[in-house]
Amino acid sequence: MPRLQVKDMRLYYSTLRGVVRAVDYVSFDIGEGEALGIVGESGSGKTSLGLSLMRLLPRNVHTFEGSISLNGTELKTLPEEEFRRNVRWRKIAMVFQGAMNALNPVLRVEDQIAEPLLNTTSTSREEARKRVEDLLKMVGLSKEVARRYPHELSGGMKQRVLIAMALILDPQILIMDEPTSALDVSIQAQIMNLMKRLKSKLNLSILFITHDIALASDICDRLGVVYAGELAEIGPSETILTAPKHPYTQLLLASIPKLTGSEMPKFIPGQTPDLANPPSGCRFHPRCPYVFQPCSQQNPSLIILNQQHSARCWLLEKS
Ligand code: SF4
Repeated sequence: MPRLQVKDMRLYYSTLRGVVRAVDYVSFDIGEGEALGIVGESGSGKTSLGLSLMRLLPRNVHTFEGSISLNGTELKTLPEEEFRRNVRWRKIAMVFQGAMNALNPVLRVEDQIAEPLLNTTSTSREEARKRVEDLLKMVGLSKEVARRYPHELSGGMKQRVLIAMALILDPQILIMDEPTSALDVSIQAQIMNLMKRLKSKLNLSILFITHDIALASDICDRLGVVYAGELAEIGPSETILTAPKHPYTQLLLASIPKLTGSEMPKFIPGQTPDLANPPSGCRFHPRCPYVFQPCSQQNPSLIILNQQHSARCWLLEKS
């Protein structure tokens, strides 16, 4: 049984422009110790997907439907208090996008990391201090960092502290939303190596949300490509990288600059659609180089290509 199973997730918001369909019938699962990458452009709904798993939703939610099950237990129907007490941070934790600026500037690192432990368990201050030291070591920081304030840390150190904060209650699932986008490339590589180590040491299941398909493939066993709130393609990372079936995935990969050869990166024409008014039919059809007769009229379903690989495109119905 997968550790996390999401089925037909819908998350829509009410806005002045109308109902925004941020997540539209998305399904996936993540196994123990597995990393799934959710890849897509800004505005594709990938952050909403992460926040919905944490049940951290804004007030203007219009629809929040579907099933989210953790180790076979349905979370969607859990009362809010039970979810807050037993699931959020304890079972599913998240490192938020741009969260490096969210560290409290007037609290020492150890107090910020230990806070959830002290607030929600009977752990003593001494035990909490020891746990913070162990976690700092695990994320590659010395125990002296515990006494420092955020302004005394570099960007990479802050990101490590945030990962330690997310791990303090020993979650099974870690959601990481663009965890390295604010970092230099060399620091980014260090954080990715750290995440790979933690994944195997803690048997962590990771949902890695990013716009960068190359970065995601570095840590993820499988990749899910989202477009305009829908899953366009999902499969093992190697398959997605070497034999992508959806035209959007193919263009995403073609947009990555190559280190060798003279081939220039290709750009995806057009813009991401307005999710309050998505295109009819296949949502990618206004930008797709292969658009043909049925594309603008009917949205294709996800077609199962093999046990692990699915994609949503009329071209696959023809083949
Ligand atoms: Fe392109 Fe049509 Fe496939 Fe959509 S269904 S990705 S428009 S070929």
